[in-house]
Amino acid sequence: MRLSRYFLPLLKETPKEAEIVSHQLMLRAGMIKQQAAGSYSWLPLGFKVLNKIIRIIEEEQNRSGAVQLLMPTIQSADLWKESGRYDAYGKEMLRLEDRHEREMLFGPTNEEMITDIFRTYVKSYKDLPLNLYHIQWKFRDEVRPRFGTMRSREFLMKDAYSFDLDEAGATQAFYRMFVAYLRTFHRMGLVGVPMRADAGPIGGDLSYEFHVLAETGESAVFLDKRLVDKPIPAIDTDFRSDLTSIFKDWTSLFAATDEMTDEAGFKAAVEPEHQLAARGIEVGHIFFFGTKYSKPMKATVTSQEGQAVEVQMGSYGIGPTRLVPAIIEASHDDAGIIWPVSVAPFEAVVINLKVGDAESDRASERLYDNLTREGIDVLLDDRDQGAGGKFAAADLIGIPYQLIVGPRGLKDGVVEIKHRKSGERETLSIEEAVGRLK
Ligand code: ATP
Ligand code: MG
Ligand code: MG
Ligand code: MG
Repeated sequence: MRLSRYFLPLLKETPKEAEIVSHQLMLRAGMIKQQAAGSYSWLPLGFKVLNKIIRIIEEEQNRSGAVQLLMPTIQSADLWKESGRYDAYGKEMLRLEDRHEREMLFGPTNEEMITDIFRTYVKSYKDLPLNLYHIQWKFRDEVRPRFGTMRSREFLMKDAYSFDLDEAGATQAFYRMFVAYLRTFHRMGLVGVPMRADAGPIGGDLSYEFHVLAETGESAVFLDKRLVDKPIPAIDTDFRSDLTSIFKDWTSLFAATDEMTDEAGFKAAVEPEHQLAARGIEVGHIFFFGTKYSKPMKATVTSQEGQAVEVQMGSYGIGPTRLVPAIIEASHDDAGIIWPVSVAPFEAVVINLKVGDAESDRASERLYDNLTREGIDVLLDDRDQGAGGKFAAADLIGIPYQLIVGPRGLKDGVVEIKHRKSGERETLSIEEAVGRLK
């Protein structure tokens, strides 16, 4: 991508309405634009990051055996009346009426709709286990939308739903998502710490929220600090095997939100040297709820004995549009964002320090072409502008590798690589620079 033809509306000033650093940086880096309270357009740079996050989520969901589909955003109220949630959901639900005066709503979540899909097609225990997911816009009329896309009203959610014949099967389905989530957040350069969370009126232990630790987090969290650098399950984890030991291993160390514990309970449970009281951003939530929807909505399968059995269900959410600011909260400095390579909008930026100088132009283009040919997502800063502004822009938008090309280096046949994260600089030939990034 050539920056001269891209759409990157950078802001010089920090917008006053942005209270936290991720919101400030997303606005300054031209990633999002507010359209109404809690509603945002994703501008090209932001959209690229969002898509990289989505790809990682999809890869890990698919690896765990979940199957992707897509359900609509607008739902009929009928299903919600069947489950009994239409009235219970309250003001957070955006209710609509169509021209025939039918009650509709903009989905805040999809338990009812997926249960309806399930009961339409799945009739036998032989078709279980099943886990279906989609990545779709949700609307929740939050009392206090804030912090940009961290808590917006329209937001993207990956929501998966598992169906099993019995509780033992549903528990394994829950563990598969648990492991998939550990891997998903890790691949984005985050530590997503699983915390015991409120299971609501149904009770039980199987409700875990995944929190990214950050000062600006909305939840108070209490954990054993050994969870922070605990090695995550490997890529070749067999999702068809019994995952109980991985789950037990992770959850034997204390971690809970303030809804589940208090300072005193925490201090009694964890030795002083391992205690960490912090703030957390909820980026994911997994939940086993048994027959809460299958019972009222009559989602049953025939068991091996020929009996109609209500299926055991769980739901599993991740917020991709919240993850973008969560990653920034976890990874930035005074100059701007520091993207982990896996979610960076571009892996590298070629900074042509002297646009119009034949040698600089030629070398920049060559570097850009060679990197592109290697499959590296690269931005070429070919704007006719001073070096200072270009360096500041590259730092602000957080591209992991800056390749600096100018007449001075080219005299000796070299360019410079600056590593955004460490600030480290190396001087290399163009060929070596391409090799370094391959
Ligand atoms: P919160 O406690 O922050 O209000 P929640 O518990 O209501 O979130 P869930 O119903 O568990 O959210 O939804 C699953 C995931 O969707 C959350 O873990 C979060 O990542 C994301 N999410 C929920 N609400 C929002 C929102 N308003 N804006 C952006 N992402 C959201
Ligand atoms: Mg909420
Ligand atoms: Mg919550
Ligand atoms: Mg939640």
